Parts: sequence; structure tokens; C-alpha cells
Amino acid sequence: MNNLDLTNQTAVITGGARGIGYAIAQRLLQSGASVSLWDVDDAALQSAKAKLTSLGDVHTAKVDVTSESSTQAAADATAAHFGYISVVVNNAGIAGTNAKTWELDVTDWRRVVDIDLTGVFLVCRATIPYLLKNGYGRVVNIASVAGKEGNPNAAHYSAAKAGVIGLTKSLGKELATSNICVNCVTPAVIETDILKQLTQQHIDYMRSKIPMNRFGKVEEAASLVGWLCSADCSFSTGAVFDLTGGRATY
Ligand code: NAD
Repeated sequence: MNNLDLTNQTAVITGGARGIGYAIAQRLLQSGASVSLWDVDDAALQSAKAKLTSLGDVHTAKVDVTSESSTQAAADATAAHFGYISVVVNNAGIAGTNAKTWELDVTDWRRVVDIDLTGVFLVCRATIPYLLKNGYGRVVNIASVAGKEGNPNAAHYSAAKAGVIGLTKSLGKELATSNICVNCVTPAVIETDILKQLTQQHIDYMRSKIPMNRFGKVEEAASLVGWLCSADCSFSTGAVFDLTGGRATY
């Protein structure tokens, strides 16, 4: 057994029904963890569970991360199912529509910030008490390189993801002596359905800025997150890990 082994770990993965979240679930299960997939899309949740169940214990909860009652109920149900929660991966997110900042629809701004930033806060608020009770934990927040660089035509997304980086740093310090590490990942483009929300022009622009001249794969994101969820990640907290194919700036 090595410290990447996640046997006896129970992991909440928001947005776990597809894309990066699904690949993370697969990875954590392969490392021995049990997982609870939290997603707003119930049909996708059930399909994910059916595909993953041969790898281990897969619990699901239909959750809207923007809802205080929904996240609290899911945390309570997950802890009741497994007996404890030790890992939380805040991955649920949307891209929103692309527009110049002064042309962004206010409703779209609020929705992106609500899901991508407030959602991370609410899931942490509901689950951290369980991690503290467990006496050990790992939290991984999926931010974006947009939160470091500020993507043009995506001020709502960039601001929300910058907020996730700030939240990660605050929480990391608050939990630094509690045996709980809190880190975030800042991917450039990873090939998933989220790209369907963007224009081809926007997608081409983003690829052109990646030195490796390709998008990342969900497995490459899951690999880094798997390490951040493990006991091997023991002296990094409040840290930001790039996953960008060498990309410097947009
Ligand atoms: P995706 O669209 O493939 O999957 C996102 C999942 O989140 C979906 O299953 C969706 O149902 C769920 N979700 C959306 N709103 C929700 C809500 N209110 N409550 C609960 N679940 C909700 O997206 P993805 O590409 O896998 O992205 C995952 C995360 O990675 C997001 O936070 C995204 O911002 C971030 N990210 C993605 C990329 C990329 O290029 N794919 C790059 C940087 C960061």
C-alpha cells in the first residue's frame, strides 16, 4: 500500500455525472475510495452510477450546489451512507455565455457566480464539519486558469474562478492544523461537453494559446486530482496547481 491508496476514503464529487467529475470518480474508485456523486442532472447521475458501480461503492445525490438546503441534505445523507466523509472535490460548474463584460446579461452573471463560486462555498460549508469530525480530509476545488488570467469575453466565469482560488487559500489556512489539506486546480481547456457552451471562435482562440497545441484530457485532470485527494499530498495546502499544457497567458 502506498500513500496514493484511497482505501477507506469516502469522496464527495460535485458535478460527478459527466466530464472531469466523472473521470475523477473513476480515478478515485480505481484507487480504492468510495464515492458520492452529487449532480443536478439525475438521469446523468444514474447513468454514471450504472457505469461505475463495478469499480466500488457509488452513492449518488441529486444536488443543486446553489441551494443551502440541498447541499446540507446531501452532506447529511452521504455521511449517513458511508459513516463519514473524508474527501470533497468541488467540480460542478458552468461556463455561461461569452460576451464583452459590458454586454453580459446580468442574469447570466449571477447564475455563473452562483454555481461556480457560491456553490463551492455552500458545499464546503455543509461538508467541512464532517471532515473535521473525521480528523482527516482533503478538499480539491476545480477552478480554472481563467481565474488567474481573466479570459476575455468571460468576466463572470473568470471572476467566479478567481473567487474559488481566494476561497481555497482562506480555507487552507483555516484548516492548516486540522489534518485537512485544501487545494485547487487551474485547468486550461479540457475536452468535455462544457465546450458546447462556447463558440468555435472562442474554442480555437483558447487552443491557440496552449503551447502543447492540444486540449487536456479528463484523465490528465483526474490524475492530478487523485494525488491531491491522497495522503501523499501532505505539505501543500491553499495552493494552486496549473494544468495547462504549458500555457502562460490568454
Ligand atoms: P461538464 O459540463 O462536462 O460537467 C459539469 C457537471 O456539473 C454536469 O454534470 C452538470 O450537470 C453539473 N452541474 C452544473 N450545475 C450544477 C449545479 N447547480 N449543481 C450540481 N451540479 C451541477 O463540465 P466539465 O468540463 O467537466 O467541467 C468541470 C469543472 O471544471 C467546472 O467547474 C469547470 O468550470 C472546470 N473547468 C473545465 C474546463 C474545461 O475545459 N472543461 C477548464 C477549466 C475548468
